[in-house]
Amino acid sequence: MIANLIGSEWRRAEDGAGSLPIYNPATGEVIDQVPLSGSADVDAAVNAALAAYKGWSRTPVMERVRLMFRYKALLEQHFEDLASIITRHHGKTLDEARGEVRRGIEVVDFACGAPTLLQGRTLRDVSGGVDQDLYRYPVGVCAGIPPFNFPVMIPLWMFPLAVVAGNTYVLKPSERTPLGGARLAEIFLEAGFPEGVLNIVHGARDAVDALLAHPDVRAISFVGSEPVARHVYITAAANGKRVQALGGAKNHIVVMPDADPEITVPAILNSAFGNAGERCLAGSVAVAVGAAADRLLQPLSDAASKLVVGPGDVAGVQVGPLIRADHRDRVAGYVDKGVAEGAQLLVDGRSQMSRPGFFLGPTILDRVTPDMAVGHEEIFGPVLSVERAATLDEAIAQANRMALGNMATIFTQSGRAGREFRERVEAGMTGINVPIAQPFAFFPFSGWKGSFYGDLHVHGTDGIEFFTRKKVVVTRW
Ligand code: NAD
Repeated sequence: MIANLIGSEWRRAEDGAGSLPIYNPATGEVIDQVPLSGSADVDAAVNAALAAYKGWSRTPVMERVRLMFRYKALLEQHFEDLASIITRHHGKTLDEARGEVRRGIEVVDFACGAPTLLQGRTLRDVSGGVDQDLYRYPVGVCAGIPPFNFPVMIPLWMFPLAVVAGNTYVLKPSERTPLGGARLAEIFLEAGFPEGVLNIVHGARDAVDALLAHPDVRAISFVGSEPVARHVYITAAANGKRVQALGGAKNHIVVMPDADPEITVPAILNSAFGNAGERCLAGSVAVAVGAAADRLLQPLSDAASKLVVGPGDVAGVQVGPLIRADHRDRVAGYVDKGVAEGAQLLVDGRSQMSRPGFFLGPTILDRVTPDMAVGHEEIFGPVLSVERAATLDEAIAQANRMALGNMATIFTQSGRAGREFRERVEAGMTGINVPIAQPFAFFPFSGWKGSFYGDLHVHGTDGIEFFTRKKVVVTRW
């Protein structure tokens, strides 16, 4: 059974509702157990964070940053270890896991800029003999609730920026992939951060609800599915906390007739089937405009059928397993539903379901419409729906019909079409000729509509705004 981190002590959960198995999704074997902590465990973690806050929030910024640089160095040192932990309990390929660790470390790189990022501003002589100064202060104890699909990167979106700004932290990793957050916390202690600055409480719904209700938690960062994002946003806000809650996705890839299949085909494969489709930036619907379908579908289907499915730690594997058997079955259920609703199955990955582990191969459904379940519900697996549109206007309208607006991307050689798409598509992260429009650590990351509840996005300067409160001082001597 893995342990919670309370202050500097790794402790068994005391108040939980039992435990859940942690699997290796490539084999179906149970590799450990995660406790389902309850409110007393959450209370212990928040109290440890609160006790640390007094000293940590007054620790000079250069000292906080020195520790963050040390953390960065240790993360580089443990890079391969972190990647193999991700693959072992999430399933993605080692290359995908390495990409995840790199993107996570980039947020730590960004956090090391705190002496610049945390600066306030000043205006002298705002009126006769009066000056005004803006200072940034930490918020207090902050908490983070990540999803299962990026067990290292998403926790790193959260606590490094919070702690470098002088806050202390409680992280509740996903109960399905808790080993990434646990390893990040071990390395955090190794870097020399004082006890209680980062605490870990493992668990699921009860632990989340205890964090949302806790009077000493001042800010909540959440990433996960849309219904839970909405619940977290409403509950935490009702309890007076600041919240950033990132939800699900139904990302559209628009392919114009002038798009070059040599670029588009590998890009769509990466977008739809990378990370086995368990990515909030995964392309879920390809909208072929006009004649694009004729040039695209055959090479796309041929290439998708050839993708190598298997355990993520085996060289040459391109598509790993899904997270759990029930999730794999749910995704396969969408394929059945799509066919029943009239879609045409071009590539059927369900033959992979017979192997041990939680596999489903790349699947392509053609002639999907936005009304079908596969056309508008988040599937979160390696299933690509293909829709047809006569014009760019129609394609944008199809994307904008979605209740979710995380990412959208277009493939075209026309600057005009690209610009039109950028201006009109309702997605917080928009790509032009790129498969995954992921903002780097120094830009804000988030979607629009049901993909995001809150106002300040994660990382970038939005992250600094979220983790600080401002004080304006008016002075006359
Ligand atoms: P999830 O919503 O099931 O779980 C996310 C977190 O919420 C977990 O830590 C879990 O313990 C907790 N949780 C689950 N149910 C809860 C409940 N009823 N009450 C309180 N807490 C609860 O999401 P998941 O399956 O782990 O992750 C996949 C989802 O996350 C997908 O919808 C995906 O699109 C989304 N996601 C979004 C982004 C983004 O940036 N917008 C990034 C990654 C993943």
